[in-house]
Amino acid sequence: MSSLLVDNIGELVTNVPGHGEGGPLGLRRRAAVLVEAGEVVWIGPARDAPAADRRIDVGGAAVLPGFVDSHAHLVFAGDRAAEFAARMSGQPYTGGGIRTTVAATRAAADDELRGTARRLRGEALRQGTTTIEVKSGYGLTVTDEARSLRIAAEVTDETTFLGAHVVPAEYADRPDDYVGLVCGPMLAAAAPYARWVDVFCERGAFDADHTRAILTCGQAVGLGVRVHANQLGPGPGVRLGVELGAASVDHCTHLTDADVDALASTRVDPGDGDGPHTTTVATLLPGAEFSTRSPYPDARRLLDAGVTVALATDCNPGSSYTSSMPFCVALAVREMRMTPAEAVWAATAGGARALRRDDVGVLRPGARADLVVLDAPSHLHLAYRPGVPLIRQVLHNGVPQ
Ligand SMILES: [Zn+2]
Repeated sequence: MSSLLVDNIGELVTNVPGHGEGGPLGLRRRAAVLVEAGEVVWIGPARDAPAADRRIDVGGAAVLPGFVDSHAHLVFAGDRAAEFAARMSGQPYTGGGIRTTVAATRAAADDELRGTARRLRGEALRQGTTTIEVKSGYGLTVTDEARSLRIAAEVTDETTFLGAHVVPAEYADRPDDYVGLVCGPMLAAAAPYARWVDVFCERGAFDADHTRAILTCGQAVGLGVRVHANQLGPGPGVRLGVELGAASVDHCTHLTDADVDALASTRVDPGDGDGPHTTTVATLLPGAEFSTRSPYPDARRLLDAGVTVALATDCNPGSSYTSSMPFCVALAVREMRMTPAEAVWAATAGGARALRRDDVGVLRPGARADLVVLDAPSHLHLAYRPGVPLIRQVLHNGVPQ
């Protein structure tokens, strides 16, 4: 079996607390990582590095776990650049533009959807994202949701059924019927390709009763729960997510004290050495606030309450057409008052928590060998040098990309 040594690492982010300096980031200096069969098998001081079949000398650069983007919408057709331009000229974002993408997606051939999903997956990988969640939600018919998930499953294992993205125009005056379709034939057709179920719980999309009904049917067929919650205004989404044991509630832009308390109430310390965390993660998507010129979520309030925070891109053609996790890290630090360490943790280990994964977002023996080599000496540069192509090399499953 061929082994690969990533050697001469100036600063290694492991996300194993107590494993070196730097608190939760578990920083190690002058380190090396040995990879075999797609897994990390050894981490230690570079001077003690074992022999290997191949060696990559990163020349003192910083290395971190590949980013875990736990919220993206990559299966769609068309773009909404004109809508973006209109918004930047003063028109507010309402979420109604989703229907524009639904029409384009329904009209597209499989290969067009596949081409876009693969292009965006490749774009994300080049920016250091080695794990990505991909949702359906622009088909909104039984056939189109199933094919969206089939295509999503070609680019990732983390697929999410979002048939409840909006009520499509043809059901506008009978949303109960649409919820029946989502819970019945649509879920049955989508579930074989999905790991998760998600609902856009928001005024203008799905209310508390509809959200609860859809998430519960998804759970009944074995899907894990996530929710788009409290993005455009206050609402029941976050508390509902906590009540149903969601792995993550996403957006969290408009929270009441009760929402924050509900999230904090899921805090546990399993004693596995990774420290306490909340079983329901708050996933913040600052690309959406950036692209809709909206107020950012209050990350400090969540972190200070002990809530586990993840960062993700929300990559989609309407409200956040970026696949860049480094960009989200920079926004989180500059606009949401996260420290650089908190933001880097949230974009790696936090995303893994939001997907209930312990094999990614962390570097230790047994973890997947997903590594990002920065063109920089420290993880601090991700926020310090925004907009700069700092991702020098990516290893995915131990394979240099
Ligand atoms: Zn989203």
